[in-house]
Amino acid sequence: MVSEVEKKDIRKLSLDDIKTFFVQHGEKPFRGTQVYEWLWMKSVKDFNQMTNLSLANRELLKEHFTINHIHVDNMQRSGDGTIKNAVKLYDGLIVESVLIPHEKRITACVSSQVGCSLDCKFCATARLKRMRNLSADEIYDQVVAIKEQAELFFERPLTNIVFMGMGEPLLNYANVVEAIDKITSPKGLNMAAKRITLSTVGIAKMIKKIAEDEVKFNLAVSLHSAIDKTRSSIMPINETNSLDELSEALQYWYKKTKRKVTYEYVVWKGINDTEQHANALLNFCKKVPSKVNLIEYNPIEDGEFQQANDEALTMYMDLLERNGITTRIRKSRGKDIDAACGQLANKIQ
Ligand code: SAH
Repeated sequence: MVSEVEKKDIRKLSLDDIKTFFVQHGEKPFRGTQVYEWLWMKSVKDFNQMTNLSLANRELLKEHFTINHIHVDNMQRSGDGTIKNAVKLYDGLIVESVLIPHEKRITACVSSQVGCSLDCKFCATARLKRMRNLSADEIYDQVVAIKEQAELFFERPLTNIVFMGMGEPLLNYANVVEAIDKITSPKGLNMAAKRITLSTVGIAKMIKKIAEDEVKFNLAVSLHSAIDKTRSSIMPINETNSLDELSEALQYWYKKTKRKVTYEYVVWKGINDTEQHANALLNFCKKVPSKVNLIEYNPIEDGEFQQANDEALTMYMDLLERNGITTRIRKSRGKDIDAACGQLANKIQ
């Protein structure tokens, strides 16, 4: 008998590992497939729920393994339908994930790290120091929790996933990719990769890597300024990862994947609300086929940033659209419960 503390989390095992375990215990390998499907396709949290396994086999599993799961510690619902989950990880740390209902889709916004190391001046998550990366199953479980909420509260399926919660997904690339592999696998959630968007501050080296890997998900870059001096002042990553390097990496991404990049861009009063800034964005957009989402700024506590006025937004919109760049204004969702972009962690400390 393995003691409780030594028991291994069975979800850290691959399908082959579980098959091998059964063979070593005198069972047929297909038992491994059954267990794997319970764990990932059906997301069961207890060996007793694996009803096509004999009682003896369930006991065998319980003797050797545990099933670690995240659990939703607190769920808040916004007036606009958005749901924010405070998710407790097995070691007690907390991250947040958000369900965003739209007319035609339901989107899960998930976290990839506890805290963040990047220090973007306008983001609430940046106020928390980075504690650790999430494991692939912790990322997967956030999606499952939101999928269940979509079915329960909206009677609709989850349709889209965005990596726009806490953390920088390209600094936890291996686990993010493992989670996406399981989310898109027929033995997992069987969702289409084209429904998944990874949002990044734009780490050039890593963008080249995902292009090289020919990943099938979409790429969004939090640009916010196409002028180095301004971008470095609000996003310190830009000091060592300039716009030229970023642009070169994005050109490579497009060459490999033939998929447009989406730029996320907030227009702030006194920071990037002039024509000079809009022209710089237009020139940046011309380098790689791209679209722009102008996102509404969500104020954070003691923040010094302020959303620009409507005229500035219209000026951006007109210039970009006139030059053939698809541009949308994204209204923010879930503001009343601090679930909007950049507000995650506003109140969890
Ligand atoms: N680290 C990744 C993903 C997390 S942030 C990234 O930077 O892309 C998700 C998006 O929210 C990014 O575009 C980010 O720039 C934006 N964001 C951060 N703080 C914000 C705020 N207070 N208001 C609006 N958008 C914000």
